[in-house]
Amino acid sequence: MPPSDPDALDQAYNADTADADGLTERSLFSLANLFDTLPEAVVVADRERRVRYVNAAAETLFGYGLEDLRGHKTEALYADQADFRNMGKERYNPTVSSAFSAYRILYRCSDGSRFLGQTSAGGLSDTGGKIQGYMALIRPARSAEQSVDTLQRLHSITADTEMGYDAKLAAILELGARHFGLDLAIIASIQGERYQVEHCHDPAGGVSPGAIFELGGTYCVHALKANGPVGFHHAGESEIRTHPCYRDFGLEAYVGSPIQVNGALYGTLNFSSTRACEAFSRDDLVFMQLLADTVGYEIHQNDMRNQLSLLARTDELTGLANRRAVMESLRWQISHSLRSGLPLTVMSLDLDHFKAINDTWGHGAGDQVLRGFSELLGRITREVDLCGRLGGEEFIVVLPDTDTRGGCVVGDRLRRRLAETPMPVSASESINITVSAGLTSLRSEDDLEAMLQRVDLALYQAKQGGRDRLCVAQE
Ligand code: GH3
Ligand code: MG
Ligand code: MG
Repeated sequence: MPPSDPDALDQAYNADTADADGLTERSLFSLANLFDTLPEAVVVADRERRVRYVNAAAETLFGYGLEDLRGHKTEALYADQADFRNMGKERYNPTVSSAFSAYRILYRCSDGSRFLGQTSAGGLSDTGGKIQGYMALIRPARSAEQSVDTLQRLHSITADTEMGYDAKLAAILELGARHFGLDLAIIASIQGERYQVEHCHDPAGGVSPGAIFELGGTYCVHALKANGPVGFHHAGESEIRTHPCYRDFGLEAYVGSPIQVNGALYGTLNFSSTRACEAFSRDDLVFMQLLADTVGYEIHQNDMRNQLSLLARTDELTGLANRRAVMESLRWQISHSLRSGLPLTVMSLDLDHFKAINDTWGHGAGDQVLRGFSELLGRITREVDLCGRLGGEEFIVVLPDTDTRGGCVVGDRLRRRLAETPMPVSASESINITVSAGLTSLRSEDDLEAMLQRVDLALYQAKQGGRDRLCVAQE
């Protein structure tokens, strides 16, 4: 490595400092000698963030000679280009204070390796207080600092109420990959021998969600066997070098842990790379476990949210969609059909003389009839149709991609099948029930309210006309 050039520091300030001032004086010249004795890397850049000087420690740390870097943007030293841009906004600009302050950032060396750098930096101002450049002192973060840094980042991910579930898991995968310095990050579900990638972070793009592997062919089988975190830093030189995962994918480094969701095994969280890495410490494995627990908690929370939203959208008695769910879906269907030009038909249903069933056979029998009718609705409609209970004995069926004629076919089929299907009202008795129905199809000037008003009027006409019939809304 060439020794760093003491003249460089001087040149750094002579180069771009139009109005000569204290910074360009010969007194600064001797600073280069001082910097070369520092254990920390020193990087001096001009106002445009072009490197003007690096000391000997920086050359060793980054693996570049001063001549490789001089005149190039400091971007070359960042692992992540977004970090370079953000740092430009946050601190490396003319508004920065010349008081030094500390932060950590991920750097990249000339051989492509990365490290988290504990950095102390500030602006270099001239005697007039004007920022003429920047200086940073960098050393690799100690393991405890790295852990704190990752934990801070993990906390900011999990505590972010704006971030959705998928984005959170993606951020956790990226964070773990970064922490361990491994490329590939996977959250997999495991059922029996089936290992399915659910979420992944793979800069090489080789693995994507949905991919299925045989569990025995993955290193995760070892994490499951250990029932806890395991790591291999150099598979080719370890006892697992005969493992199919090493043979087939050449993964040298792996660290992974089982994910438990609500006390049951969900799958694994794992990080791997075709490059060997340093041996994993006990702390690394503890951190691995912590990450897997965090992922397990996020999955559990998401399951709960889904269940809640399903409950909030389901009619308890019949299991059909409730009014809120139907209205949400119908509103979406209407705008979708108006855009696509595909037909959309809605059928409103009201059981005839239902009060009499309650009065004669009791409320429990009435409930049973409501459930029986709901099941019949499910049987005579397609998967894409939405059947809902609006309340009492009133139902609605949304028929996407269906015109009035198609809707009438469904209505007639329903009435025919209802006539053929006596509903049990006690242990030994069944009764035949009838239904009145209104039907209307979407018109170009429609909105939700207009369509519902029209279908209700059609249903009213069916009742007025003597019940047990289907009426289509007229112009
Ligand atoms: P019509 O032919 O005019 O529709 O007469 P109907 O008796 O069906 O109509 P009405 O609206 O007068 O009565 C509806 C009845 O539905 C009254 C109410 O007690 C009953 N009902 C509403 N919700 C439920 C329920 O969840 N379970 C039971 N068993 N009955 C219900
Ligand atoms: Mg009614
Ligand atoms: Mg009724």
